[in-house]
Amino acid sequence: MTEHQFKILIVGDGKVGKSSFVHRYVNGQFNKNYKTTMGAEFTLKLLLWTDTERVRLQLWDIAGQERFVSMNRVYYKGASGCVVMFDVSNSASFQSCRHWKQDLDDKSLLPNGQPLPCILLANKCDLTERVVSVESLRRFSQDCGFTCWMETSVKDNRNVNEAMRRLVEEMLSVQSPVPPSDTDTDTGFHLDSVELDAGPVLDTRCCSG
Ligand code: GDP
Ligand code: MG
Repeated sequence: MTEHQFKILIVGDGKVGKSSFVHRYVNGQFNKNYKTTMGAEFTLKLLLWTDTERVRLQLWDIAGQERFVSMNRVYYKGASGCVVMFDVSNSASFQSCRHWKQDLDDKSLLPNGQPLPCILLANKCDLTERVVSVESLRRFSQDCGFTCWMETSVKDNRNVNEAMRRLVEEMLSVQSPVPPSDTDTDTGFHLDSVELDAGPVLDTRCCSG
């Protein structure tokens, strides 16, 4: 059994649904009165990915500040992927996503210099009062270099598993296809392979919820 371990950051303005998302994904529940996150904390989720592969996810849910704040580098250290979330009924939370993504890209890159896999989640799509159009979302996601974007509703359990599956696929595809062994120290080979592997995936597999 091969085991992959990934640290995933969940960022976005306060009250967009980050803690609810993690709780839903890990425990399968939606609790209207989920406690406000105090400080960063992580939750573990183990996936039986294939017959021969296990994926262990560390989900880091950030402290509940209302607006964007530049994060400490320590928080980003060792991260393999990121979820940037906003609330479709709150345009300020949408505008913050540019800053969250930029902060991530400034402080965390793959070994080959490419940005980390990062998905944009338009949460609370069960609500009718929506302030962000699909077209502007599509353009925004592309401009900011997100791997893909999806509409989610943690409340209605819509696209929660699908979004995480998409992120895991992306993290698996950009990591070294040949696990380095004790005798293989030629890292140049691995970096080239990663680049070739990642290109078409990023271009063709963007999703639209
Ligand atoms: P966080 O500050 O980003 O961690 O947000 P929380 O997870 O604490 O959620 C903030 C509020 O939004 C809570 O009252 C949740 O019940 C609510 N919420 C979360 N996800 C959804 C959703 O998909 N739809 C709706 N309508 N409410 C949601
Ligand atoms: Mg929270």
